[in-house]
Amino acid sequence: MPSLPLLLLLLCGVGSLGFPAATPGAQDQDVRTVQKYLENYYNLKSDGKQIVRQRNSSLVTEKLKQMQEFFGLKVTGKIDADTLNVMKQPRCGVPDVAQYVLTDRTLRWEHTHLTYRIENYTPDLPRADVDSAMEKAFRLWSNVSPLTFTKIFEGQADIMISFVWGDHYDNSPFDGPNGNLAHAFPPGPNLGGDAHFDEDETWTNNYRNYNLYRVAAHELGHSLGLSHSTDIGALMYPNYMYDGDVQLSQDDINAIQAIYGPSPNPVQPTGSQTPQVCDSNLVFDAITTVRGEVMFFKDRFYMRQNPFYPEVELNFISTFWPDLPSGLQAAYEFAERDEIRFFKGDKYWAAQGQEMLYGYPKDIYRSFGFPQTVKNIDAAVSDEETGKTYFFVAEKYWRYDEYKRSMDAGYPRAIATDFPGIGLKVDAVFQKYGFFYIVHGTTQYKFDLQTKRILSIDRVNSWFNC
Ligand SMILES: [Zn+2]
Ligand SMILES: [Zn+2]
Repeated sequence: MPSLPLLLLLLCGVGSLGFPAATPGAQDQDVRTVQKYLENYYNLKSDGKQIVRQRNSSLVTEKLKQMQEFFGLKVTGKIDADTLNVMKQPRCGVPDVAQYVLTDRTLRWEHTHLTYRIENYTPDLPRADVDSAMEKAFRLWSNVSPLTFTKIFEGQADIMISFVWGDHYDNSPFDGPNGNLAHAFPPGPNLGGDAHFDEDETWTNNYRNYNLYRVAAHELGHSLGLSHSTDIGALMYPNYMYDGDVQLSQDDINAIQAIYGPSPNPVQPTGSQTPQVCDSNLVFDAITTVRGEVMFFKDRFYMRQNPFYPEVELNFISTFWPDLPSGLQAAYEFAERDEIRFFKGDKYWAAQGQEMLYGYPKDIYRSFGFPQTVKNIDAAVSDEETGKTYFFVAEKYWRYDEYKRSMDAGYPRAIATDFPGIGLKVDAVFQKYGFFYIVHGTTQYKFDLQTKRILSIDRVNSWFNC
C-alpha cells in the first residue's frame, strides 16, 4: 500500500532489499512471497526449487520485470519494497499472463443468452445478499453488451458459481484468508465460465473486506472471456480495489465490446476514464500539499510525484481517506495544525495525515462564515506565512483568518483585482516554496502574493515531468 509522509518524515523501508539476505528471517519470508507470486500469476516454472533465492536467475529477473511493468512499477528485475508491497495486496487468483496459449483467438461464448447458477452460499451473508450481489454484477456486464443472463436453480448452467476453500480439485487451490480471493475460468464447457470464491475470506455487502459484489463483478469478467487490465481504475485490474462504488470503466467496456460487440441499447453506455497524467487536456478537481508533497485530485483518484519514484503515483483517494467522496472541489493544508481540509458542495472533511478527523463532514457556513449564497468552493489555499486562507468562489475570493477563526472584513473581493492576469476564475491552488500555484484549466500561474505578480506560466502537469 502507498503511504503518506509521516510528520517527521521517517524514510525507512524505501529502496532495494537486494540479495542475498541481510536479515535472514524476514528475507526468507519475502523470497517465499516472491516465488509463490511469480509461480501463481506470472507462470514461473520452478519444479519445486527455490529459484528466486538463486542469485542472477535470468528467469526470475525476467518474470519480475514483467510483473513490474504490468503494475507500472519501476522496472528493475529486482525485489524492492514497492514490488513486495504490490505482491502482498489481496487479488484475483487468475494469472496476469496466459498460462498456455491454446489458440490465437480469445475464448468467448458462442451464444449470447447465458445461464448461471449459484451452487452454494457463503454463511457470511444472508442468501438474499448473495443473490443480489451476483445479479448486480451480471447486470453491469449485460448493460454494456448484447449478453443476457438467466438464473437457473438446477442442472448445468454456463456459469456455475460456488464458495469453496483450500484445494477444491481444479488445480488452483485457494490459500486461506487474504491473498488469493477468487478465480473464474474463461468461456468453455464444464469448468469453463465457472466462478469460485474463497470461503476462507469474509464476504461482505459493505466497505469491509471483502465486498462480494465488487469481487463478483471482476470474476464474471473472466467468465465472459476478459483477462486482466493494467488500468488501475478498471474492474479487471487484478488487485482488490474498493472505494464504495462498483462501476465499469471505459477500459472494461472496450474489452467486453471487443469480444461481443456493442450494446443493443441505442445510446451506447460509457464508463469512467482513469486520468492519464501526461494528457495535455487533463484538468484537476483540487490540489493541495500534504506534509510537503503535492497531491492532485481528479474524480476518484489522486496523483503525486514522489521524489523517490520515477513514475507518477496514481491511486484511489479511498486508499488514504476512505470517507471522502469522489469529485472533490477544493482542498488545502493548514500546516500549523497538520490538517488537510477537503471540500465538496457546502460540506468539508478534515484529516491529519491519513487519519480522518471525527465529527465531519461539517458545513461551510457555520465553520467559516460563508453566506448561504455560496454553494461550493472552487479552490482554497492557506498561506503558511500569515495563516490566512484564500477561498475562491466563482469570480470572487474570501480570506479567512485561521487564528481568529473568522472571515476577514472587506471580503469577498474580485479575483481579477488582486490576482491580475490569471483570468476570472480559479480551479485549483496550492502553495509551494512560498509561492501560490494558481491553476485555471490546464494552465498554472506561479504567483507572488507580495508583489501580486505572475512569475511564470506553465502547464499544470509539468509537475509530472511530462
Ligand atoms: Zn481476475
Ligand atoms: Zn477453483
